[in-house]
Amino acid sequence: MIVRRQSKPIRIGEVTIGGDAPVVVQSMAKTDTRDIQATVNQINELADCGCEIARVAVPDFEAAEAISIIKKKTSIPIIADIHFDYRLALKSLKAGADGLRLNPGNIREPEQVAEVIKAAKQRQVPVRIGVNAGSLPPASKPSISTSAHMVNVALEQIKLLESLDFDLIKVSLKAFDVLTTIEAYRAIASKISYPLHLGVTEAGLPRAGAVRSAVGIGILLHEGIGDTIRVSLSANPCEEVKTAYEILRSLDLRQHGPTLISCPSCGRAEVDIISLAESVDRSLKDISQPIKVAVMGCIVNGPGEAKEADVGIACGKSKGAIFRKGKVVSTVAEKDFLEALIAEIKKLLN
Ligand code: SF4
Repeated sequence: MIVRRQSKPIRIGEVTIGGDAPVVVQSMAKTDTRDIQATVNQINELADCGCEIARVAVPDFEAAEAISIIKKKTSIPIIADIHFDYRLALKSLKAGADGLRLNPGNIREPEQVAEVIKAAKQRQVPVRIGVNAGSLPPASKPSISTSAHMVNVALEQIKLLESLDFDLIKVSLKAFDVLTTIEAYRAIASKISYPLHLGVTEAGLPRAGAVRSAVGIGILLHEGIGDTIRVSLSANPCEEVKTAYEILRSLDLRQHGPTLISCPSCGRAEVDIISLAESVDRSLKDISQPIKVAVMGCIVNGPGEAKEADVGIACGKSKGAIFRKGKVVSTVAEKDFLEALIAEIKKLLN
């Protein structure tokens, strides 16, 4: 069982991060925030696929102002992602952002940070200190490792925020390199009690990115580190959300949506199990309730796995046994596999 690190809870809109709250899934809109309709559509799509908090880029004042309309047309909390210009943070707060992400690598003037923190405190809006290995300020010691430098940058910023009597803090230390990411989070986890936002940044295209994120985020979560996660993929943001839930499900940290157990197929299979599993996966895509579905190719592991699942099929030569909650409920012909399995799933969910 995973024993989670005790962190101080904060609230982003209606969502609690840290404390005893479940690990929260975040993503980021990939639209131009100034294109309000496109951004609203994407955030609503993200919410539909289970995203709990959405971040938007704020490259200029127009984008910051857009947040006020975006907020009215969406239902999940919005975090404004701020780089370079602290005034964009002030504008985003006025526009109603539920959270801020500040990059200490490119907003370095303590007076500017202080101005933002004063406004965030008035509104009780949390701030993520979002350290990124790709945009670190110069290190005082050239020999310092990237992970140690990232931790120092975060600690320095935390000190500044605490000196302003502000503690609605969340911290992230993201790097492309998985080992650097893990080292950085491990090092800071024991030094602070603020919630940690995990991510492997610029992780890449869906396959490589999902694996890199699963390894980096997964190892940390398994050690009890992490209160919220974002999987960064060069793909539709819903893919990020689905991958995030897959990581959380595999560690038994969240049960969101269906879990598909399917055998890899082999020379024993007497049906096209891969196509069947893909069709089942497509049919499950709009289901958000946690349900375990097994699609198995033969009698070797089929009945065992199908019995363990909520609903399953163990296929044989031109027919298959449908299981529900461990019991065979019907035997169906190959042409009816998909339909019968989906009908059984619907019966269970209704
Ligand atoms: Fe092969 Fe049967 Fe195992 Fe599937 S369940 S991989 S078909 S032995």
